[in-house]
Amino acid sequence: MTKTQKIEEDVLTGSTECHLVSVGAHNQQFMLIHEMVLDPFYRLRADAEKQGFDLCICSGFRSYERQLAIWNGKLSGNRPVYDQSGKPLKLNQLNDWEKVQAVLRWSAMPGASRHHWGTDIDIFDANAMTEGYQIQLTPEECEGQGLFAPMHQWLTGALANGEQNTYGFFQPYATDKGGVAPERWHLSYGPIAKIYGEQLSKSIIRQKLSRDANLMYLDVVLDHLDEIFERFVQI
Ligand SMILES: [Zn+2]
Repeated sequence: MTKTQKIEEDVLTGSTECHLVSVGAHNQQFMLIHEMVLDPFYRLRADAEKQGFDLCICSGFRSYERQLAIWNGKLSGNRPVYDQSGKPLKLNQLNDWEKVQAVLRWSAMPGASRHHWGTDIDIFDANAMTEGYQIQLTPEECEGQGLFAPMHQWLTGALANGEQNTYGFFQPYATDKGGVAPERWHLSYGPIAKIYGEQLSKSIIRQKLSRDANLMYLDVVLDHLDEIFERFVQI
């Protein structure tokens, strides 16, 4: 493997921070995002501000290690896993492959999260929150009477006229295709993420995971990698 290839694979699997810059977030926090996403994000944020929204990032870049901790936390029962409708699931009533699929509905597999790339962000409207409100990132927050619904309504309207209206951002999980649950709050910067999405192959993921003895249910994942890739990685 050449050095450039290694860097590319590390970027795709969340194994490097070399392409990231830090961006201010709510409550004096900082998030890491892809350096090319900074400017379009500020533009989108400025448009939102004109409408009275404080469009903030609650999740930007997420490393492989972080995703691994989430994955293992869910499969070991230390973190809750939810069913299709968002109700807590009893994992011990499922077989191994069912457990892995249940986790994949709401959480990406380490090495295959769009948040590894720095091009994808989860957003909320800080102006809509009351003091001390804990962000849930649920469909209820984003629709109907949900507190973030007005901002999402505005965003959906802007997106309806093409991605150029949102400076290249689009919603990869806007509709339910039976894989990842719909996530209106998840935005992706198309001009880069679409290239990364094409570059991230099954063999890159297989190579990365095969080396990871800490990944729970690794054998189940590798056995079903074709299906996982089709249903949960490719959009
Ligand atoms: Zn997300």
